[in-house]
Amino acid sequence: MNLGCTCDSCTSLVTSSWPPEFDNLSDWFTHLLTKSQTRTIHFHVARNIITANSDNVEYMLKTRFDNYPKGKPFSAILDDLLGHGTFNVDGKKWKFQRKMASLELGSLSIRSYIFEIVTKEIEHRLVPLLDSFTNTRGTSTSVAVLDLQDVLRQFFL
Ligand SMILES: [Zn+2]
Repeated sequence: MNLGCTCDSCTSLVTSSWPPEFDNLSDWFTHLLTKSQTRTIHFHVARNIITANSDNVEYMLKTRFDNYPKGKPFSAILDDLLGHGTFNVDGKKWKFQRKMASLELGSLSIRSYIFEIVTKEIEHRLVPLLDSFTNTRGTSTSVAVLDLQDVLRQFFL
């Protein structure tokens, strides 16, 4: 099979043969990013660049944002899901959506409402859950494990 690139990363990606100690692509990508001196990896066959380098992220999202449009293929794939909203448009449409969202989300009444909701969620759901975990942990003979990622995901639902 001609993959177009025979580097280790591309071969593993195309053949789904990344090291077995990684359960999924995200874990493997994270591993590769931590090993990369630039905190950036490139999958040539997929024409994808993945970066965890804060300088690169700032450059793409702030300094030269206009140089990194989502593009029509991306927008077409997500059109049914996202329509023509902020997360699926470029250029003038994006700037308009961004300005509208900023006006809406930046108002004092919205920020106060969000603060009120988040405070209630923390007080009535998150803290009691964490307290119950702490209380049960001392009485159990087995090791209790708290999946904090799952807890935070539920917190935001
Ligand atoms: Zn490659």
